[in-house]
Amino acid sequence: MTDHTYTSLHTMGQQLDRRSWAEPYKIKAVEPLHMTTRAQRDAAMVAAGYNTFLLPSRDVYIDLLTDSGTNAMSDRQWAGMMLGDEAYAGSENFYHLEQTVAECYGYKHLVPTHQGRGAENILSQALISEGDHVPGNMYFTTTRLHQERAGATFHDVIVDAAHDTSSLDGFKGNVDLAKLQALIDEVGADKIPYVCVAATVNMAGGQPISMANVKAVRELTATYGIPIYLDATRAMENAMFIQEREEGYRDKPIAEILLEFCSYSDGATMSGKKDPLVNIGGWLSTNDPEVFEAARNMVVVYEGLHTYGGMAGRDMEAMAIGIREALSDDYMRSRIGQVRYLGSLLDQWGVPFVKPVGGHGIFLDARAFYPQLTQEQFPAQTLAAELYLDSGIRAMERGIVSAGRDALTGENHHPRLELTRLTIPRRVYTQAHMDVVAESVKACFETRESVRGLRMVYEPQYLRFFQARFERL
Ligand SMILES: *Cc1c(COP(=O)(O)O)cnc(C)c1O
Repeated sequence: MTDHTYTSLHTMGQQLDRRSWAEPYKIKAVEPLHMTTRAQRDAAMVAAGYNTFLLPSRDVYIDLLTDSGTNAMSDRQWAGMMLGDEAYAGSENFYHLEQTVAECYGYKHLVPTHQGRGAENILSQALISEGDHVPGNMYFTTTRLHQERAGATFHDVIVDAAHDTSSLDGFKGNVDLAKLQALIDEVGADKIPYVCVAATVNMAGGQPISMANVKAVRELTATYGIPIYLDATRAMENAMFIQEREEGYRDKPIAEILLEFCSYSDGATMSGKKDPLVNIGGWLSTNDPEVFEAARNMVVVYEGLHTYGGMAGRDMEAMAIGIREALSDDYMRSRIGQVRYLGSLLDQWGVPFVKPVGGHGIFLDARAFYPQLTQEQFPAQTLAAELYLDSGIRAMERGIVSAGRDALTGENHHPRLELTRLTIPRRVYTQAHMDVVAESVKACFETRESVRGLRMVYEPQYLRFFQARFERL
């Protein structure tokens, strides 16, 4: 096995030195952006209580809040919308989506859902019994919640490097096989209904998992008869990282890599709002006829009939087309390349962020920005506010505010990482926008010493990061 340490920019960065590269698409329809003045942004930030989630999008210039459902669709996808067959049962578009998922991901059975969490709910209820344990390579908010609501305890079995911003390991999303084995030994295989493997790992900064690792997880769990379900939300982006970094995959198209990757699993939950280049939708897929049967029974309760599951026919058509478009190597290279381009600019100016750059965004290290602030003065929340005030760019906090409070003691969780996330929507912004973003981050970095923190003046009971309000200290 090769050394996965990943220090330099791959071909994209090298090409940058010699020749420029550009997006492999051109613009057919434009959506004007809203330009604001500093005075307008000052007023908007106060009105939003220094929380970027509370800003109306009309006050935002470049919106990097999330890559979820913010994708730009192609002309072909929009044309596909006109082919929407809005029959209640057996819509033509369902069969197209079913066939596309079978061909691109390799799964036999498909249950459409309104978005990823709908699939998580159904899978969790179908497989988990009270008192079960579900291991996963770092948690995702909605995924873990559904597993817990179905009666399971979640166990993080990701490699330690995932929690270390200074580690340059190329596969920081990998499952730690020793941790997984230890859990199996502790609770017993019959208490583990499945292993949940995410590709890429969102909460670790979009870090990938290697083919060798998923294969090893398969070998280990197969001896105990434990199935593997993927959170395949960004599995295509993961495939690009495998092509770049893992021995033996350099000459394989990502379409082939994705199929092999999924072949080590029994099924997947999927958010259409990420890889598949649409704005809404999701699905659950499985190779297990019994799980399929259970899921088909349940989808009619929570989502809709088993041939639409909460999506309009036109949405299923756009997703089927989007899946094929996202599996183009040229597109995916530009997708990851754009994120990396932003990272390379920031790196050149010494701005601190999580490395190596992951698939869907740049995670700024707010603690390193503001050593003068304690964690209770909300460094990452402060940086998100400063960025907006500087240029109208919208980022999101991933630190103490997002981590919330301990349910028993009521004390704040103190996560090791205090990050401000710049998430890049797919096919929406150009390299020029990335320049503007980088320069704004640089401006905030240069004035970092004079920045004071925030105090929280309103705290909602659940998922406080969405609606909490702050004032300047
Ligand atoms: C977005 C996301 C989900 C949930 O999908 P929704 O479509 O938002 O319900 C699950 N897992 C990961 C890793 C995600 O990024």
